[in-house]
Amino acid sequence: MPRHFVSLKWIKDMTIEAIATQFATAGKIGKLDTHEGGHINDSYRLTNSVESQPDYLLQRVNHNVFKDVPLLMNNMVLVTDHVAAKVRKDFPDEVERRSLTIVPTKDGLSFFKDPDGNFWRVLRFIEDHLVFDSTTDPDIAYQGALSFGAFTTMLNDLPAEKTVNRGTFQNPADLSFMTYKLVRFSEVIVDGKLKWLFFPDQCRHCLEPPCQMTAEDATAIFSDSATGAVIYTAKTKNLDAQAIVDSCPYNVPRACKDGTLAKCDMCIDRVENGLLPACVATCPTGAMNFGSRDEMLAMAKKRLSVVKKSHPKAKLLDPDDVRVIFLVTEDPQLYHNFAIASREAFDISRAVALKRLVRPLTGLTGRW
Ligand code: SF4
Ligand code: SF4
Repeated sequence: MPRHFVSLKWIKDMTIEAIATQFATAGKIGKLDTHEGGHINDSYRLTNSVESQPDYLLQRVNHNVFKDVPLLMNNMVLVTDHVAAKVRKDFPDEVERRSLTIVPTKDGLSFFKDPDGNFWRVLRFIEDHLVFDSTTDPDIAYQGALSFGAFTTMLNDLPAEKTVNRGTFQNPADLSFMTYKLVRFSEVIVDGKLKWLFFPDQCRHCLEPPCQMTAEDATAIFSDSATGAVIYTAKTKNLDAQAIVDSCPYNVPRACKDGTLAKCDMCIDRVENGLLPACVATCPTGAMNFGSRDEMLAMAKKRLSVVKKSHPKAKLLDPDDVRVIFLVTEDPQLYHNFAIASREAFDISRAVALKRLVRPLTGLTGRW
């Protein structure tokens, strides 16, 4: 048994067997045994009693080491899907041997969280494998390095924003269908002094979102009632993309080639599971906070009163209209053209909404 292995037959109110049943495994699990070699995760082999179906590996992910397991699993799914798609092209009969297969829970998630706060995942068991925790054999070390190199090569075209040196620290250049948040950089002279200004541009999750009012289709753009997050779905493909982009007073949404629109979704899947948005959770300096709007507004006003003592031009940006509240110390236009919305943008959208509200009456009037 590996040093780190903790034998747990019971996890609070759930047996390990009960945890295994949370996953969409095929066949029927007949036997559950502890399995050595799970590295830093506790591992169990689930033996299938249906001969034609595979065995599985159930793992309790070590959340003392991996502090954000949902994010870890999100990355693992991205990488695994990408590798599997490549292997499928070259070795269609060997996908399940040459790449990992993550088995989802019956709810379609990549992990299960038990009542004790442990995170579990299930992988398809790869038969007849050899694991070397360490070796003094140069051939085995060479093969290991070769395999690792092949693995990383397969990842070199993972879809991500390609960055190029354009002679500025601004990289990538703009928001995109894949880049939901972007730190905008500008070099300016303020009161005769050179300053570097940084602005983390993203959707502001407006209280009365002009994009949503313009869409007039709740299956494409809607506001989540619990958080206020403004959510875009795949149905945005059916909208007039340019009209939606033009309606946003902060110039945020971006379309892909087929016209589907995307932007920050407030990490709604994380927030619904009691986690912080990824950008807030991972910011090393703690520059962002997340909570109820009232709480955040009170915090922002308190901070503003302090900052104003040393930076008299400091202000909050559109605090009455948005859920993402920025505090800046200089003229907002110096950070970014769309740092603040023009007052008219919201007034126009309210006027549009009002006009739409009275439209049925206008129609009636027309028939009289
Ligand atoms: S910032 Fe733009 S994209 Fe975001 S909710 Fe407001 S109008 Fe919509
Ligand atoms: S809340 Fe989530 S989706 Fe939005 S910018 Fe932050 S990390 Fe990206």
